[in-house]
Amino acid sequence: MANTKGQIGVTTENIFPVIKQFLYSDHEIFLRELVANAVDADQKLKALAAAGTFAGEAGDLKVTIELDEKKKTLKITDNGIGMTADEVDRYINQIAFSSAGEFLEKYKDQTNIIGHFGLGFYSAFMVAKKVTIDTLSWQEGSEAVQWTCDGSPEFSMGKGKKEERGTTVTLHFDDESAAEFGTKGKIRSLLDKYCKFMPVPVVFGKKTEWKDGKSVETDQDDVINSIEPVWTKAPSSLKDEDYLNFYKALYPMEEEPMFWIHLNVDYPFTLTGVLYFPKIKERMAIDKNKIQLYCNQMFVTDHVDNIVPDFLTLLHGVIDSPDIPLNVSRSYLQSDANVKKISTYITKKVADRLEEIFKDQRSQFEEKWDNIKLFIEYGMLSDEKFCERAMNFALFKNTDGKYFSFDDYRKAIESAQTDKDKRTVYLYATDTEAQWSSIEAAKNLGYDVLLMDCELDSHFVNMLERKLKDARFARVDSDTPDNLIPKEERVKPQMSDEDKKALEELFKAVLPEGNEYQIEPENLGENASAVVLTQSEFMRRWREMSALGGGMNFYGSMPEAYDVKVNMQNPLIERIWADREGSGDLLRQVIDLALLEKGMLKGKALSEFIARSEKLLA
Ligand code: ADP
Repeated sequence: MANTKGQIGVTTENIFPVIKQFLYSDHEIFLRELVANAVDADQKLKALAAAGTFAGEAGDLKVTIELDEKKKTLKITDNGIGMTADEVDRYINQIAFSSAGEFLEKYKDQTNIIGHFGLGFYSAFMVAKKVTIDTLSWQEGSEAVQWTCDGSPEFSMGKGKKEERGTTVTLHFDDESAAEFGTKGKIRSLLDKYCKFMPVPVVFGKKTEWKDGKSVETDQDDVINSIEPVWTKAPSSLKDEDYLNFYKALYPMEEEPMFWIHLNVDYPFTLTGVLYFPKIKERMAIDKNKIQLYCNQMFVTDHVDNIVPDFLTLLHGVIDSPDIPLNVSRSYLQSDANVKKISTYITKKVADRLEEIFKDQRSQFEEKWDNIKLFIEYGMLSDEKFCERAMNFALFKNTDGKYFSFDDYRKAIESAQTDKDKRTVYLYATDTEAQWSSIEAAKNLGYDVLLMDCELDSHFVNMLERKLKDARFARVDSDTPDNLIPKEERVKPQMSDEDKKALEELFKAVLPEGNEYQIEPENLGENASAVVLTQSEFMRRWREMSALGGGMNFYGSMPEAYDVKVNMQNPLIERIWADREGSGDLLRQVIDLALLEKGMLKGKALSEFIARSEKLLA
């Protein structure tokens, strides 16, 4: 073969600066691209052997990486199909012309081709000032070919010296890249990141062992990858232990996951993977970038935000799909039809699995509920389809620590907790300590009280009110106990407008400053408290939601508003009302008791209250 020189077939005069700067923002992916090509070449040979086209000895197919720190070179060698001079010309020289399509057409269904990235090979020029390809094709009678390019659009090609089938790509690092990538530690960490699960053994150096107090090399290849990770295997062939071990390998620092879902679909798109429900330690501090995206076992990214629905980014694990377009912009991804289907599929699978556990392992599901609740509520709030499904398996927990499905709960409370307007009232507490007396009072009336102490609960309660028919939610301290679920119209005290105004002025003069008060005369019975402070369900919920970042800052900046219910039937109030001008201490005392009950009596006001109590008792 005559030596040739030529221009690489691109229109731009000098494409390399472009590649260097713009092709990939992450220069380190050069290694992924080159190893992927080498793995492809091995896989292609396997396919040829399986089809009977290649009758020779395939040998142990593998990819070997060799770094020479002194010479600043990195070699990537495979024993795959290699290339003839003609193929080098077509596949390498005519840049952007990829043979993967041609090959796939010919050997459909027999192999996994990673090459999705068009300019893959040329990414070598992001880090190398010179690249050499030494290759020998599998085809009988082929001659070895050597191709060299120094980063200008000129290359030289001629007879090579390679004696074994396959390809070696040699990178001569430029100085800057040698400093960044030219150490064993760096190459190992990149292989670990991108090639850990590639389907062909990737060898980097020799295994070491401890001998006479120091680490020495053995003659065994150090294979850095696991070629058959769990997601590529049939779920029926796997035990819990296999899934747990894989999780440990991915996230060595994490606690055991709660449970997992094996994804496996090949129509209308191909997708495999395993998703895990992590154990959530601190609720709001959940790491979102824990799902890794692979393409035929090659790591692509751990930013899957546009591929799986937002609430699923809380899961951990691996998704592998050749059908996700990888070299396109994020906004394009969101509108891609395949990506939409994939996202719908994953959501459905997650719902299926949760429902299965709910049905078949109810006690386990209840045990884990507190841990997965945030995730499921987030899913229900953000994804309509998931919400529909989750209404069947989501749980309520009451203040006694008992769990109920939504349906069961409704059945349990309906008879006692339906109000005069035929609406079922779900009572809930957000803090069992602070709302203790209200919870007890509600229970004494035969009501059940839910515990809703999660960050999303105020949003969640709003959503449930829309979903559940004829239902409303009321925090257990949002009204006086027997008015929480009014069974009949209540008769208000008969008072003139003037008297009402006088009552209002009397109370407002004594109530602490800084809040808004609505003074309401009520008939609550002579045994009920004199004064009860409540906070309107509506106002409180909006305030909480705006604090969570719901965008309604108007409510967030309003002063706290309380309803002050004055029980006109209580004997103390009767006394105060009869002696309006002279009842200062007694009035202060009943108001302070109401504040005390809500945990709002503090500091100076509290010590004044104590002093006054002692005086009254004396
Ligand atoms: P892609 O991998 O997307 O096809 P590349 O630029 O990485 O694009 O490679 C172009 C083509 O060069 C490949 O499709 C393949 O035919 C050929 N090629 C690259 N590396 C090798 C290799 N190690 N062995 C055999 N052929 C290779």
